[in-house]
Amino acid sequence: MEIPVSHIHLSGVACDVLHLEKAFPNGEGNKYFKLKYNLVEARNTGKDTILSFGGAFSNHIHALAVEGKENGFNTIGVIRGEEDPDNPTLQFARAMGMQLHFISREKYRQKQDEIFRKELQEKFGDVYFLPEGGTNAYAVKGCSEILRGLEDAFDVIYCAVGTGGTLAGLISTPGLRAKIIGIPVLHGEDILEADVRRLLEDQEMHNANWELATGNHFGGYAKHTPELIAAMRRWKTEYDLITDPVYTGKVFFAAEQLLQQNISLQNKKIAILHTGGFQGIAGWEYRFGSLFT
Ligand SMILES: *Cc1c(COP(=O)(O)O)cnc(C)c1O
Repeated sequence: MEIPVSHIHLSGVACDVLHLEKAFPNGEGNKYFKLKYNLVEARNTGKDTILSFGGAFSNHIHALAVEGKENGFNTIGVIRGEEDPDNPTLQFARAMGMQLHFISREKYRQKQDEIFRKELQEKFGDVYFLPEGGTNAYAVKGCSEILRGLEDAFDVIYCAVGTGGTLAGLISTPGLRAKIIGIPVLHGEDILEADVRRLLEDQEMHNANWELATGNHFGGYAKHTPELIAAMRRWKTEYDLITDPVYTGKVFFAAEQLLQQNISLQNKKIAILHTGGFQGIAGWEYRFGSLFT
């Protein structure tokens, strides 16, 4: 697979945009790679149904619905909160054949517990459990293939961080020269570094070149400011670059600031990984209003 590339300037610095979102017909982006070896593992263990967890606007749930259908699996989405029949993400997941199961926020917090798993197994049978966001060692392995062919192309690569699975995979790219800078877009930054280190230990990547650029999440998941939205509109006008306000918008915003502040970066080869998230735009507009028009 070849990733489409475009060229932009952020704070006057030339950057390559690696368009993962354009590499897949349904815009799965990084989620394609996170699912890849999980699907293999599900098949190898004889499972025909994959169950996972997510919020009502989750990119992961959306991508699982697509990839499950494409690869002949039944899929079950255990969704936090109450059912909303007008939610575009869930409408799509259902149209792909995903079965949805709604649970309270309180119950959702128990998603890792053995007892709750047993309950789900009694209800749904012998399913393949995929954690929230799809992050596990198989996801990291899949994401270690994203930069294949680009091992030597860049000095610095910026990328969105949710659970850290994608970041851990990028860092684990065999033979990678670039430093990976992860931009956390949710809250809980304090535990992220340890989470990423744990995922890296599984891959025996202890001394890799990476860091988290914290303080760029705008207050947490789907939180935003007029400045962020204005910058997204500016990139759309200048470069026809579409970002989403939950993940990639924050990454480009942070990169713009970091490149401005750090003169030593200005003659480096910089790339920004566009991880996808387009489906989230519909969900965002559904809640907060029109983004680009
Ligand atoms: C899920 C997602 C991420 C974060 O991936 P993690 O592996 O959870 O860190 C980044 N960008 C987009 C567009 C996503 O959908």
